Amino acid sequence: MFNLFKKVLGKTNEAIKEVAPNKKKEISKDEFEDILLEADVNYELVERLLEDLPENINRVQAFNSLISVFQYKADWKESDAKPFVEMIIGVNGAGKTTTISKLAYRYQDHGKSVILGAGDTFRAAAIEQLSRWAAKLGVPIVATQQGHDPSAVVYDTIESAKAKGIDHVIIDTAGRLHTQTNLSEELKKMIRVAGKAMDGAPHRKMLVLDGTQGNSSINQAKAFNEMIGIDGIIITKLDGTAKGGSVLSIADELKMPIWYIGTGEQPSDMIRFKANEYVNTILD
Ligand code: GDP
Repeated sequence: MFNLFKKVLGKTNEAIKEVAPNKKKEISKDEFEDILLEADVNYELVERLLEDLPENINRVQAFNSLISVFQYKADWKESDAKPFVEMIIGVNGAGKTTTISKLAYRYQDHGKSVILGAGDTFRAAAIEQLSRWAAKLGVPIVATQQGHDPSAVVYDTIESAKAKGIDHVIIDTAGRLHTQTNLSEELKKMIRVAGKAMDGAPHRKMLVLDGTQGNSSINQAKAFNEMIGIDGIIITKLDGTAKGGSVLSIADELKMPIWYIGTGEQPSDMIRFKANEYVNTILD
């Protein structure tokens, strides 16, 4: 079977091959350390993983060591709420807009209807870009002018979904983490208003992280998590980086389910994250 993870982690695997050209049945601790550091797994995590391993490590031991990082609380149950309301969070440039188009594509592919809410009213370009994706995918979008209250977009999008019997509401949010301190208040208000439009909404707050940022994206994730609480993670742009090991650091630090991995720039370029396939690919 064609392994999509192999494609996504191609650059990471090339980097690993430089330090461990012919992986034998058993590798030494030093070799395992080189492999993990080369893939950009955070140093402290590497040292912790090595502590519990023998001097010579076989494939099963290496697999068990890496997979242990993903033993966080099981993925939360899919809510069967209709509409299912999710907010997409993350810093500008992380890939939020693209990811929203990918989610919309995926839901449509599963026979579900979708509506988008252009909740990053801070950037005119964000509204335009999301509107273009909506047109391309043939999904409705609620958008206002730049500078308008994003909470109104949230409310109107959910109301519209209820009125039209739409399955999925996907709401974009602003990502100016480093320039505006009132982002926190804005996001909290959006969440409050979502709850007013529909009991229990938003059902999911998904954080989009740029996989090419390696471990530095962890700090962003923590900041957003402290601000509003995050339910799960989507990692983008792993196709373009040799830092694929950062997935391990992210999972270890944040103890949150990683839901999807971005594999390119098109709406169909996103796969469900599977920890065992990921670990096997790193070790191949
Ligand atoms: P936003 O500012 O967070 O909304 O980011 P965008 O969605 O505009 O994405 C920023 C850039 O990253 C764009 O050029 C996207 O095409 C690109 N991008 C997003 N996700 C991926 C991905 O998974 N793989 C690759 N190769 N590029 C991506």
